Amino acid sequence: MADSSLLADASTRLETALMYVAISEDAIARLQYPKASVSVSIPLRRDNGSLEIFRGYRVRYDDTRGPAKGGVRYHPNVSLDEMESLAFWMTFKCALLNLPYGGAKGGITLNPKALSKHELERLSRSYIDTIADFIGPDADILAPDMYTNATVMGWMMDQYSIIQRRITPGVVTGKPISMGGSQGRETATATGAFHVINTLLPKFDQPPHRTTVAIQGFGNVGAMLAQLLSQVGYCVVAISDSQGSIYASQGLDIPSIRRYKMASKALQAVYCESSVCNIVEHEVISNADLLKLDVDVLIPAALEKQITVDNAHSIQAKYIFEVANGPTTSAADKVLEKKGIFVFPDILVNAGGVTVSYFEWVQNRSGLYWTSEEVNQRLKERITLETEKTWAMADEFDVSMRTASYIHALQRIGEAMDAMGTRDFYSSHD
Ligand code: GLU
Repeated sequence: MADSSLLADASTRLETALMYVAISEDAIARLQYPKASVSVSIPLRRDNGSLEIFRGYRVRYDDTRGPAKGGVRYHPNVSLDEMESLAFWMTFKCALLNLPYGGAKGGITLNPKALSKHELERLSRSYIDTIADFIGPDADILAPDMYTNATVMGWMMDQYSIIQRRITPGVVTGKPISMGGSQGRETATATGAFHVINTLLPKFDQPPHRTTVAIQGFGNVGAMLAQLLSQVGYCVVAISDSQGSIYASQGLDIPSIRRYKMASKALQAVYCESSVCNIVEHEVISNADLLKLDVDVLIPAALEKQITVDNAHSIQAKYIFEVANGPTTSAADKVLEKKGIFVFPDILVNAGGVTVSYFEWVQNRSGLYWTSEEVNQRLKERITLETEKTWAMADEFDVSMRTASYIHALQRIGEAMDAMGTRDFYSSHD
């Protein structure tokens, strides 16, 4: 593993957790590398008739606890290293939430905004054609991730079903409701993060009305979470998108900003729901400055590697809830810990999405569909339970919540690996 890679950085969290967990040497050895990675070339016939080839990946990090599970990302930064790291995080995330899954991730290196809707559909179907033998409802299950959504999942499920000559909803989660999707999936990551925040902040005697929040990333998850938090009284003072950030010390009117953003695709602070809309007094700040704001809670909800040794010293927030995958490097973790900043890790905070993906898969397999109340209740119960267990483990081992999350997940993965005995001895292709 190259030391500068994202996966090498991710693995350091595993090494720390291993100091506290008694798992076998075999299990440790297995967890060092992804089980399988496929790298594919995906042909796309552009609307103008030309042929373009895109690079794509699907990585299965581990599937000891069940079929591999993880999203598909469309982004210019997608690389094999990134996919392997994200699949690694999925493995621990699923184990932490006690879902019967291993971890996977996939993606295509592209700028999705540069393609027409028809091109995106053809590319998504073409991706499934190239990886069809690698995935399946009992092998590896896809889901949305950055710049993919329910529409894309619908195309993928349909393409897989065409290949299999049978309707196979369980191969993809996060589908449109009309194609076997689950109630509550679209808002699940934000809702899960909301429950984690509401479970943990009271332990610090930090009530919503005395808590200022800055959120980096105003996509599906960041925007929904901003809304949920502001609804119960948290003061969301700053938000950002890829273009920049807006800040208002008195708090931003999140519902109207969401509506404005959806209508115009731009980020703008507006208020007045009933009459004329005015621009709220706000400052435009850089994305880098948002991270350094003097707020109680900082929520990175965009890309990985946002908090590094270069800016960790300037962070003033007391609590960081990682909604993005991998926003903090392991070196930055040490700086934050020294500064007394509490970091609540991605594999816990953003696990609501995959938890409701699991519920969707269960519904697909049983054919019985749940109400949004049932889904939300089950999500709340599961994520609150595992948050409390992780909190207790942090206390027991006197470690950070990140290390406690890995210890908790690792115990479950290690136990499953050891239960498999000497399977490697009998298997020629493992
Ligand atoms: N992409 C999401 C994640 O990183 C969801 C994965 C899933 O639902 O399988 O957790």
